[in-house]
Amino acid sequence: MPSNHARIARDLVDAADEVTVLTGAGISTDSGIPDFRGPEGVWTKDPAAERASDIRYYKRDPELRRINWARRAEGALWADVEPNVGHRALVHLERRGKLHTLITQNVDELHQMAGSDPAKVVEVHGTTRKAACLSCGWRTEMHIVLDRVRAGEEDPDCPRCSGVLKSATVSFGQSLDPEDLRRSEQAASEGDVFLAVGTSLAVYPINETVRIAKEAGARIIIINAQPTVFDDIADAVMHEQISDALPYVVGMSDDAGVIGDGNS
Ligand SMILES: [Zn+2]
Repeated sequence: MPSNHARIARDLVDAADEVTVLTGAGISTDSGIPDFRGPEGVWTKDPAAERASDIRYYKRDPELRRINWARRAEGALWADVEPNVGHRALVHLERRGKLHTLITQNVDELHQMAGSDPAKVVEVHGTTRKAACLSCGWRTEMHIVLDRVRAGEEDPDCPRCSGVLKSATVSFGQSLDPEDLRRSEQAASEGDVFLAVGTSLAVYPINETVRIAKEAGARIIIINAQPTVFDDIADAVMHEQISDALPYVVGMSDDAGVIGDGNS
């Protein structure tokens, strides 16, 4: 039997016209993308990767950049990851005509690869599949820069201004794009349901979208393996596997047998 909260969540989605979704790392772990700070996290096991993710080190340390580009060019980073059922469930929600905006903290583009309309996706932390110049903002596809690395450039620079290139992600020490934040906050205030999936809701300021949605009158649904600080203001909370809970909640699967009832 589905838990009370799973049923409540599904009913809320059924009744909603506009669902604003916020996703975090939890929706991508089933695709083999590790989280960053857990015991098996990328940064826990590889401190150099964490330094490369801090804009201050990255800007001033060419050796760090050379290591980072070499590693990317080897294809070690997410070469063949694929979207999973959680991503597809959100495509299903969109095809039902109910998706307002899909805000994601992930940088893997798996939502778009699953079939989500790129125009509805706001990548608040950017994407590793593109590269950007830290000086002038010039952007290109990551694979184009990696071809330059494989052709012998150890620290490829910007073709427009010779500035430092980096993956187009928001690193530690960088601010979110103001337009991305504005779109996210507007989407939070316009949906009748706000659905947070696979995020601990611990990262400011994007976690504030939950409060914005609540204050605008939206019903709040949270699906995350661990408790979050916003569980108390949610209408339905599921501490479940996303691949089990999300397809049921969005009406893609009627199989709720796997969803337990230990959360109400
Ligand atoms: Zn430039």
